[in-house]
Amino acid sequence: MVNDKNSNLPPPPSPEAGSDVVGTINLILESAVNKKASDIHVDAERDSLNVRFRIDGFLHPEITLDKYYQERLVSRLKVMAQLNISEHQMPQSGHLEFKHGDRIYNVRLSTVPTQFGESLTMRVLEREEIMLKDDDLGANPEQMEMINQISKSPYGLVIVTGPTGSGKTTFLYSLVNSLNSIDRSIVTVEDPVEYNIAGIRQMQIRESVGFDFHKAMGAVVRQDPDVIMLGEIVDDNTAQAVFQAALSGILAFTTFHTFDVPALLIRLLEMKIPRSVIAHTIRGVLLTRLVRKVCQSCKEEYIPSESEKMLIGIHNKIPAKLTRGKGCDKCHNTGYLGRSGIFDITLFDDDIRFAIIDEVSLSDLDKLVSSKKKWNLWDSAMEKVVNGVTTLDEAIRVVGYPKSVSGQANASTKN
Ligand SMILES: [Zn+2]
Repeated sequence: MVNDKNSNLPPPPSPEAGSDVVGTINLILESAVNKKASDIHVDAERDSLNVRFRIDGFLHPEITLDKYYQERLVSRLKVMAQLNISEHQMPQSGHLEFKHGDRIYNVRLSTVPTQFGESLTMRVLEREEIMLKDDDLGANPEQMEMINQISKSPYGLVIVTGPTGSGKTTFLYSLVNSLNSIDRSIVTVEDPVEYNIAGIRQMQIRESVGFDFHKAMGAVVRQDPDVIMLGEIVDDNTAQAVFQAALSGILAFTTFHTFDVPALLIRLLEMKIPRSVIAHTIRGVLLTRLVRKVCQSCKEEYIPSESEKMLIGIHNKIPAKLTRGKGCDKCHNTGYLGRSGIFDITLFDDDIRFAIIDEVSLSDLDKLVSSKKKWNLWDSAMEKVVNGVTTLDEAIRVVGYPKSVSGQANASTKN
């Protein structure tokens, strides 16, 4: 978590500014929506209550409230989310709805007990409002064609990988929604259901009543679906059920936390999926991450330094100028506003299938997969740097240094 110290925020209002608790909660939620915050952190401190917003992946201080508010605000939010207000020692979580303008937002609330009282986090989700158009994904036409080739297979398994917060879930929703039509039955199993999509049956896992991923998978297959999406594969039984479904003519989508194909193979073998089934079922593996976009309101061009040219020049034509944000009110002085996807795409072809069946070494498999890749994360990020969508610093923050120059990673990338 990075706390941006350059934030040029106005001083917090005096406690009297919103002395009623409901008003204060509304002010916080409205401000979060206006600033497009994904999460609201309300942290209990010794003498105060600190409110921070996560915007484009980074935490920013929003307002510091008097300690007076802590219990009142937490209690009120618990009531709104139908939680137990007399329980202060155990973490709790629930949902509440919030209307702002003509839009309804779903807020997922989680509380935790801390040494200074209860702190809470709210995840703000706009209902039925989700990045679903191809051009918002950030994929270029060539990448989009490869993504379509993988995700529009008649059957098989499509795997999206990446860490939490990488844009994996949004990307998965976009893929599944692009198949959404009246002549297709699409069923999803999720924990939690993050976005509601019209025309798709979405099932919510409820561990508390024993409705887990494996049970849900059994129910899904009996729903006669054409397409299924499983939020994650949590155990061997679920993995086997998904592969079984994908082999039997269903197009299945799921996610893994692993990054590359060899690591994925190891994980699937551990889950007791036979090599031949892995080889013949998987259509492709898509890795996605999000880079912050240069703020359009304060962007400026500059001449890249020698070390920057060296990094970009590995695979690309070096541009005369690069783009960066100076920082303004709109972007909270970060120079960035909004995010865009970068991609690493592996299409499973016969060479990869046979390599998996023939049990070639993991390093040989890695080499084979790399040699076939038209787009990896670094190249995908550099394309956006060269086109002025993002900066080299941001690309390195998200992807790390490319393998071929990691020995020179000390070279400064700043002017
Ligand atoms: Zn700006």
